[in-house]
Amino acid sequence: MSFEGLPIGTAAKKRSFREKLYFPEILRGLGVTIRHLLHNILHTADMPTMQYPEEKRVYSDRFRGRHRLMKREDGSPRCVACQMCSTACPADCIDIVAAEHPDPSIEKYPATFDIDLLRCVYCGLCEEACPCDAIRMDTGIYEIAADKRSSFLVDKEFLLNNTTDGTL
Ligand code: SF4
Ligand code: SF4
Repeated sequence: MSFEGLPIGTAAKKRSFREKLYFPEILRGLGVTIRHLLHNILHTADMPTMQYPEEKRVYSDRFRGRHRLMKREDGSPRCVACQMCSTACPADCIDIVAAEHPDPSIEKYPATFDIDLLRCVYCGLCEEACPCDAIRMDTGIYEIAADKRSSFLVDKEFLLNNTTDGTL
């Protein structure tokens, strides 16, 4: 391969004596940093950063947060254990065990309904697939933290009473 004819790089650029000293450029850089620092200290309201966790970002209503299960008027789960959500789930993280409902007008109900939040990708396909509007992701909860892996496996009771903050 020949380098003939290619433009000469910046290494060949002649530097002035002032640039070769470096210190004036270092001081100039520090000046820019200090100018921004002082500006931010004096104009904190203009700063684009947020004082998290005291201050939290407000997401749109369409934001998909942690799941919840909807209830009927009597407090029982609206879910009829049809498995549509678990079938649509690309992460295979919903596990439902169906049981016969004592009310003959309702075919089935979920004896267990577990979601593995560590596997979930928050795509929202489960709530879109549900024919009964029984599962929603409108809690607005996006801080999902726990100190052990098993805490991320949430069950039916948790999903039916999902009113806590992000801490599992
Ligand atoms: S949001 Fe997506 S990945 Fe998570 S449980 Fe629903 S379908 Fe599965
Ligand atoms: S949450 Fe909806 S889609 Fe999932 S099993 Fe229950 S009724 Fe079916």
